[in-house]
Amino acid sequence: MNKIIIISAPSGSGKSTLINSLMQDENLKLEFSISATTRQPRGQEQNGKEYYFLTEQDFRQKISENAFVEYEEVYQGRFYGTLKSEIDRIFKNGNNVIFDVDVEGGINLKKKFAQNAISIFIQPPSLEELKRRLKNRGTDSEQEIEKRIAKAEQEISRANFFDVIITNDVLEIAKEQLRKKTEQFLG
Ligand code: ADP
Ligand code: 5GP
Repeated sequence: MNKIIIISAPSGSGKSTLINSLMQDENLKLEFSISATTRQPRGQEQNGKEYYFLTEQDFRQKISENAFVEYEEVYQGRFYGTLKSEIDRIFKNGNNVIFDVDVEGGINLKKKFAQNAISIFIQPPSLEELKRRLKNRGTDSEQEIEKRIAKAEQEISRANFFDVIITNDVLEIAKEQLRKKTEQFLG
């Protein structure tokens, strides 16, 4: 049975950085689950690579077709979801799935896949550092950053619902912790 790695964190904690690093290890046979979203592409993002970018109308159509394993309105008016077809695609390739989803999505996916999944929460060292990272990343407006910070506090309070918590303070240490936990789980 192929396995599932679920990674959740407040936006800006370094989740994408850590996932990209973990995926370099070919022995783990990880394939990224590309979510669908109604938000606009950011920077160099491409349709079918980081996300499937859908209109709200198309997204709602897929909800009505029961095409999602889970979906959330992560920010007001911004929908994100995991398509069933995406998991099928990755399993057919013989790979393990790695998810980058919000905290509620992570908790729901863990419930769904139970022993076949490990849920990992990436925690920022502090809210101040989180804000600094979002500003430094330079991809979101001031208003967008405020939205993300407001959400982060509530998300951090849900960390205990995850199998593993990793604090991303010194990047190299967090990368190593994530690699070890993933290796152990995949066996
Ligand atoms: P997320 O995917 O959780 O939104 P990113 O991976 O985009 O976060 O990271 C947010 C920003 O913080 C990026 O500019 C990234 O380079 C930086 N970053 C990630 N980890 C660290 C770390 N341990 N220390 C300092 N900066 C970091
Ligand atoms: P971003 O806009 O920064 O790419 O993502 C915003 C948030 O949406 C992140 O917390 C990310 O993990 C989450 N997200 C991305 N895809 C999904 C998904 O399919 N389901 C859920 N629940 N959250 C998602």
